[in-house]
Amino acid sequence: MNLTVIDHPLARHYLTVLRDQQTTSEQFRAASRRLTYMLIHEATVRAPLAQIEITTPLETTQGYQMQGVVAIAVLRAGLGMLDAVVDLIPGVKVGFAGLQRDEETALPMEYYFKVPDLSDSVVLILEPMLATGGSLSWAVEKTKGKGATDITSLCVVAAPEGVQRMYRDHPDVRIVTAALDRELSPHFYIRPGLGDMGDRLFGTL
Ligand code: URA
Repeated sequence: MNLTVIDHPLARHYLTVLRDQQTTSEQFRAASRRLTYMLIHEATVRAPLAQIEITTPLETTQGYQMQGVVAIAVLRAGLGMLDAVVDLIPGVKVGFAGLQRDEETALPMEYYFKVPDLSDSVVLILEPMLATGGSLSWAVEKTKGKGATDITSLCVVAAPEGVQRMYRDHPDVRIVTAALDRELSPHFYIRPGLGDMGDRLFGTL
């Protein structure tokens, strides 16, 4: 299975801060940013590099440049991972994907999808809570429709149900997460999870 659970003391620390219901929105945003640095580190471990020649103060030598990375934030919780992405990844381009439930039909409806050119790009999809996998599967479908072939999803927490759905719909997509949690609740929250990521990031509880 294309799943990597990062196992690092700092990741465990920041995930604990995110899970704790006493954590304020300000602390939550900082922990989300810090944990995302660690997810990016793992997600880009095999990212292609361009070779360049540079001159140090002493001589000419070979250097490397990372380029061609596109991050797509799934609205709205994916915004909590964006600061780390634009800080760490050189020249990253950013797209946005928004899906919401239609109040009358209860069916998921796309309300926003805007991405840069994805051909030959390394695509990172920022979907912090992989619950049922419905929105991630949709975002991947749209992303593939724009020509992407190298796709990794960065998730703070994943539920087994979401991982299985992704494995069924898109087995080629890598998932990098800080935790594979126990299960989904009857209301599709991840258990033990951290609650509603968007509400906790933006103080809309
Ligand atoms: N989205 C969230 O924000 N939290 C969950 O537990 C599941 C989906």
